[in-house]
Amino acid sequence: MPIPQSVVPGVERPLPSRNRAVMDRARAHLLQNYKQQPIVLERGQGVRAWDADGNVYLDLLGGIATLPFGHCHPEITAAAKAQLDRIWHTSNVFYTEPQVALAELLTSLSGLDRAFFCNSGAEANEALLKLARKTQQPGRFEFVCFETSFHGRTLATVTATGQPKYQKGFEPLLPGVVHVPYGDLEAVRNAVGPRTAAILVEPIQGEGGVRAAPQGFLRALRTLADESGVLLLIDEVQTGLGRTGKMFAFQHEGIRPDGFSLAKGLANGLPIGAMVCTEAAGTALVPGSHGSTFGGNPVAAAAAVATVRLASDPRVLAGNLDKGEHLLAGGRAMQARQPTLVREVRGRGLLVGIELSFDAGPVVTRCRERGMLCNLAGDRTVRLAPPYIVTLDELDEGLRILEEAVVAVAPPRSQV
Ligand code: PLP
Repeated sequence: MPIPQSVVPGVERPLPSRNRAVMDRARAHLLQNYKQQPIVLERGQGVRAWDADGNVYLDLLGGIATLPFGHCHPEITAAAKAQLDRIWHTSNVFYTEPQVALAELLTSLSGLDRAFFCNSGAEANEALLKLARKTQQPGRFEFVCFETSFHGRTLATVTATGQPKYQKGFEPLLPGVVHVPYGDLEAVRNAVGPRTAAILVEPIQGEGGVRAAPQGFLRALRTLADESGVLLLIDEVQTGLGRTGKMFAFQHEGIRPDGFSLAKGLANGLPIGAMVCTEAAGTALVPGSHGSTFGGNPVAAAAAVATVRLASDPRVLAGNLDKGEHLLAGGRAMQARQPTLVREVRGRGLLVGIELSFDAGPVVTRCRERGMLCNLAGDRTVRLAPPYIVTLDELDEGLRILEEAVVAVAPPRSQV
């Protein structure tokens, strides 16, 4: 039944909130497994999104690094729409051209040889782990992973994730996973042994607070992996597709992993994941050994082809680095003005974390109330992962809102 706007003639009442109405339905019937921000996003264009009550937001989160070209980019939308009019789904029992085109693009851009498609980052990492087990058997079955990492929510990937809060209650976890401190080469050296199948690492730990590996770390892991006969697997789910200024973040170190994973931005928001590997690593996954019903779905793959073509433009990659430098410089200027409130500003390209000296949750809330979307990466770090089409003015607008929010909600004792 519609809610009456006013029961007393002539007495104005506030319009019923459409945000509220949808959230009430969500609370009644959705699994309550997310800490959701209390707005219903209904429409988006570029770096702006509108909620169900018509409020507009500057979206500097981009679906958490999942919208490289913002909401409803015309070229990507057109590619997906054209494919919707051709064929939606075939099963991987048959070939489809967009999937092949995407594999060609990803292998030529990475220098690796083969691609497998799935539907999410967790599935892409799961494929990497299965690939390593199958390639390295018998004998080598262990994975060396990192503390504070994040690799997904399936049982294998949550085991690989180095954060107990995501694992609690789901034990027993997958056997054969060891965690060592991120960036600690000596610890990796000590952990790698005759039973090690692979090392799995993020170039920048996104969920772990936007923390980059020390320079040279990935290259040192490559050398160690070669010397020890283990595979080097890189999780590029959050960092891939040009976000850090190179098509894949491992390219900053000039290395070639045995395999890497992609998802998030790959189809600019349509669900798709990819595992890309070398010829040698890939041969173990013979027909029937691994698969996915929806993996590489032609609509998602067509959107991904359009996204990858746009993202791999050298001007876009250079732009991401420049915009990232601008964002980091702006964040550091804020830190200089608010030294007790802002602890560290870090990241690379358009993946930036601003660590505060206090719980950042209220800052995210205040930013949203002032018309800017961001989120948390850890309890004290505000994450910005804007679309690549963001302008410098929009980044400045976001930084202004963020600083105002930090100052407004900081607890009194952190303002000394
Ligand atoms: N790996 C990394 C580095 C991620 O950031 C994420 C998601 O945040 C995942 C894996 C999991 O991806 P998905 O949520 O698509 O399964």
